[in-house]
Amino acid sequence: MLEEGLLKPSPLRHYLIASDFDQTLSFNDSGEVLAELLGVRAFKEKVTGLASSHLVQQGAELAYLIRHDPEFRGVRREHLIEAGRRAHLRHGIAALMEFLQQGITGCRFSFAVVSAAPREIAVSALSGIVPPEHIHGTEFDYDPTSGEVRAITRVPAGYGKVAVLEELEERLGVTANRTVYVGDGSSDVHVMLHVNSRDGFTIAVSENRQLARIARSTVLSDNAFGIVVPLLEQVLAWPVSEIRALFELRGLTLEGWERARMDRVKIDEAGPPAHVTPLRSSQAVG
Ligand SMILES: [Mg+2]
Repeated sequence: MLEEGLLKPSPLRHYLIASDFDQTLSFNDSGEVLAELLGVRAFKEKVTGLASSHLVQQGAELAYLIRHDPEFRGVRREHLIEAGRRAHLRHGIAALMEFLQQGITGCRFSFAVVSAAPREIAVSALSGIVPPEHIHGTEFDYDPTSGEVRAITRVPAGYGKVAVLEELEERLGVTANRTVYVGDGSSDVHVMLHVNSRDGFTIAVSENRQLARIARSTVLSDNAFGIVVPLLEQVLAWPVSEIRALFELRGLTLEGWERARMDRVKIDEAGPPAHVTPLRSSQAVG
């Protein structure tokens, strides 16, 4: 039997929490903010047209337009920074950062933003909240004389997000089963499938039907801190009472948590009950 003094402390489990930016940490879409700033008309139609052609990865439409659409030719770095300032952020991002930074007993967390949005926009929007070195977004090469975008050097959209995630895991020494990815839209499908396939965990923060089927959990909240609920409950297997206590310690109440679960139960009376399909846990969690 080992004497107590010889017992080594068990190493901290290291988790990577990777998050999308547009409509995950923010409410609005970077592209729309930028288009408004530049006076670009019919931005949504441009994106829809490009998306239906499948020329670029889902989520990379803005990057393509900035480089190739004549109406975006005037984009300079300053416009991206200003668009970031105009982004409408979700509440609780600073509290989420503080929580992840502190870690919890037995665990430590690394946080990264992995977004198809221009990196300058996300860095500017999250200034003072998320350190720039933790933000991975679309990167451009600018003409040194005119300041014009002359090339796209990297786009973390669609499968591009997988590449960034794998680099991060390797650099941080995080195993794939300890990667958690948070996102809201179709640009997150590839990366979520990838994370799930390697026993990581995925959280959707919107009612996007495509994602709801893929994500292990769905959290609908105006507050970015809401992702802590499935993180503690489903990844770290905390009892509900302890999760409530943690929120209360921070002056937060989990109002509507159960209600959200109830809201997700759909009772359909049309037609005779042929069989009963059990709910998957991801459908039962609000
Ligand atoms: Mg998004």
